[in-house]
Amino acid sequence: AALYAPERGNAQGWDLHDLTDLAAIEAARTPFQTAQWQAAPLTVTPATDGPVRVVVNPAAPADTVGQITEATPDHAARALQDATVWSAPVTERAAILNAAADLYEAHFGELFALLAREAGKTPNDAIAELREAVDFLRYYAAQAHHLTNQARGVFTCISPWNFPLAIFTGQIAAALASGNGVLAKPAESTSLIAHRATQLLHEAGVPFAALQLLPGQGGALGPVLTGSPQVNGVCFTGSTATAQRIQRTMATGTPADAVLIAETGGLNAMIVDSTALPEQAVRDIVASAFQSAGQRCSALRCLYVQEDIADSLLTMLYGAMDQLVLGDPWHHTTDVGPVIDARAQADFAAYIAQARERGAVLKELTAPDTGHFIAPTVIRVSGIAEMEREIFGPVLHVATFKAHQIDAVVDAVNATGYGLTFGLHTRIDSRVEQVSSRIRVGNLYVNRNQIGAIVGSQPFGGEGLSGTGPKAGGPAYLPRFTRSPRIAHPF
Ligand code: GLU
Repeated sequence: AALYAPERGNAQGWDLHDLTDLAAIEAARTPFQTAQWQAAPLTVTPATDGPVRVVVNPAAPADTVGQITEATPDHAARALQDATVWSAPVTERAAILNAAADLYEAHFGELFALLAREAGKTPNDAIAELREAVDFLRYYAAQAHHLTNQARGVFTCISPWNFPLAIFTGQIAAALASGNGVLAKPAESTSLIAHRATQLLHEAGVPFAALQLLPGQGGALGPVLTGSPQVNGVCFTGSTATAQRIQRTMATGTPADAVLIAETGGLNAMIVDSTALPEQAVRDIVASAFQSAGQRCSALRCLYVQEDIADSLLTMLYGAMDQLVLGDPWHHTTDVGPVIDARAQADFAAYIAQARERGAVLKELTAPDTGHFIAPTVIRVSGIAEMEREIFGPVLHVATFKAHQIDAVVDAVNATGYGLTFGLHTRIDSRVEQVSSRIRVGNLYVNRNQIGAIVGSQPFGGEGLSGTGPKAGGPAYLPRFTRSPRIAHPF
């Protein structure tokens, strides 16, 4: 596990004062034109024959953000025929990725508006996400100069809706920086952002045959995009179950040396012991559990508080929760926006209702009546073993422990099989050593929150059920997209 220092900053220090492009943001409130999927224009014209998906704002489902024509398995098969590696020299690839970063920045207002309206991102989250996308482009462009190997070929990049710009861009930038061709399959719910980002990448100079966008249903497109002989690698971020399905599909159709790079779920915990600074711990618990409405794979799911401080710490936590502003992510004061769609909302509401019935709900806020909102909620559990699955929303579980049980708590967390993030609040140095040497996670955060890894300084990724590695935003990432050069050895 990597150990990170407590201090941190938003990447490059952007904040709300950088929102200078207010006119563009305002203009982007009107519905977008119908977006069409992008494919190599040589043999495939943009699909007009696929199913049309209407995209609505999760905070206000009556607000239509736009619509997109989805690709079908047939489109995907044709795109695969057209896909090529990006054979331009590394200096040219890097220059184009940097130019794309400039374009993202220039189109900040529009991307910001899409992040709010299509993905329900609050202003702070949208800014951090745009920043992370730009960081990925520039970081991998720089890293590409150190590559000694050659491109693997064609990568399918399958990205999630919770970071529809940052992870979408990061996967593609890594594959392209190393000279691969890319078929990008964005999450169904956030295809418009993906479409706009792809346009900007093409505008910067990425060839059409090296980057094709295939928005559509994962169940339909997956078998072609992850099981065809032309696919040399799959880069995936999403659920552990889907990663396992991809692995099985790859085994049936891709070449034997095709790679899977997967970042998946987590059942992340935090320990707060009785020496922790309570105000700091509470601030970091709130951010870890409720920022982005808990829709991060890094988010805190199970908090372990030392028994002797539990009452006072939880009282303080509930007070801090009462200060959270829930609502339309369009407003700059909003802390917690909606969850992604009606299905997620219904699932979490049923989960919370069950906990309420057994008297396990310790604290809950009130959600706005319209929109797909789930109010931040705290549920009592005996320990992480009681949690059967990752609840990908603003639901925090709390357990208590006694000082002599620290090792047992860490063992219980390890026993879940996941290993993504872990938080520790303590002022005892030897306890940091005790926990860090025992916990099996990718990212361990001490005396800070456990979300928002920063490209270049905090490579992000997990172990066990949480992913295959290598960590995104770190030096080991690009080499996995390459293979040893094919060399003819003369006698
Ligand atoms: N990199 C993000 C973070 O550190 C999480 C990515 C994800 O949720 O997939 O919070």
